[in-house]
Amino acid sequence: MTAKSEPITQRWTLDALRELHASPLMDLVFRAAGVHRQHHDPNEVQMASLLSIKTGGCPEDCGYCPQAARYHTDIEENALMTVEQVKTAATRAKGLGSSRLCMGAAWRNVKDDAEFEQVLDLVRTVNGLDMEVCATLGMLTPNQAERLAAAGLYAYNHNLDSSEEYYKEVISTRGYEDRIETIGNARKAGLTVCSGGIIGMGESIDDRLKMLMTLASLSPQPESVPINALVAVEGTPLEEQKPVDIFEMVRMIAVTRIMMPTTTVRLSAGRTSMTPEGQALCFLAGAGSIFAGDKLLTTPNPEAFEDLEMFDSLGLKPATAYAKGCKPEVKADPGAPGEKTRIKWSRPGHKIERNEAKRK
Ligand code: SF4
Repeated sequence: MTAKSEPITQRWTLDALRELHASPLMDLVFRAAGVHRQHHDPNEVQMASLLSIKTGGCPEDCGYCPQAARYHTDIEENALMTVEQVKTAATRAKGLGSSRLCMGAAWRNVKDDAEFEQVLDLVRTVNGLDMEVCATLGMLTPNQAERLAAAGLYAYNHNLDSSEEYYKEVISTRGYEDRIETIGNARKAGLTVCSGGIIGMGESIDDRLKMLMTLASLSPQPESVPINALVAVEGTPLEEQKPVDIFEMVRMIAVTRIMMPTTTVRLSAGRTSMTPEGQALCFLAGAGSIFAGDKLLTTPNPEAFEDLEMFDSLGLKPATAYAKGCKPEVKADPGAPGEKTRIKWSRPGHKIERNEAKRK
């Protein structure tokens, strides 16, 4: 088997993907590693940091999320962080090897208000530290995406989470099509796109593959695809889900790598229950990034020194910022539209029993 002839993009059918996903693990990893080596330095892994700039109190009902106000978790709510707080956190993360900072706010969608002005300042500040700046703020209008791009944002994260069908079993407060629209708004504004999903929420293999088909069919494909293993948090509707088996994670990463050869596949949440050997297999299968730092928004993550030791043992080097793109220039702010942009984000209105039960 050789990987030399892998086309950069290929239309995958669900049947072909099922066959690929079910192939013997050694064959799958060997093929994925070949694709990875054609497009990436296999000994380079980007360290990124994920910072919760506004924590908790979210009106959405994502079944996996401890930040949803309706569930009873022990999350400490925080107001939007100041420029100084973010600068300190970003500088620390950079000192520990991170070349990218993703700032997350627990919002349904961005509003044209003073908090958004503050986020624009945060973006300008982190851009000034020469880190790739990513943000995940919920749904976004075209104008908001343009303003973020002008402030020097490099990437916008908006995960699809799962297949369109299974998404309805996890979230009832917004629709899949709005997520696709937000990704399109970010793309049109010239931002790079980061979008992936979570495995271990009770979905089928077909759901995982269908999500990858949707991501791979975006044109261009996302520059970044995070693959998360569910971290089941007490108090959320998915608290009783079993941890994801490492080989399921490896398969998911390998299939993502083969389907989207030039994308950075991010080994994201769930690393605390993975051994360094398991993570090494993920890197071999095509993962080109981890999230570093002891927290991933609100869930635990390995300590920085453990990651540095793992990098050392494996001979991995952290990627530098903008290794795969140019640093965005900070430009004049186009400003908010005179009249509020009235985008009608959907409210699907169906009920998910386990979410309702946890709410009570
Ligand atoms: S995942 Fe994001 S949108 Fe969903 S409840 Fe959590 S913070 Fe809110």
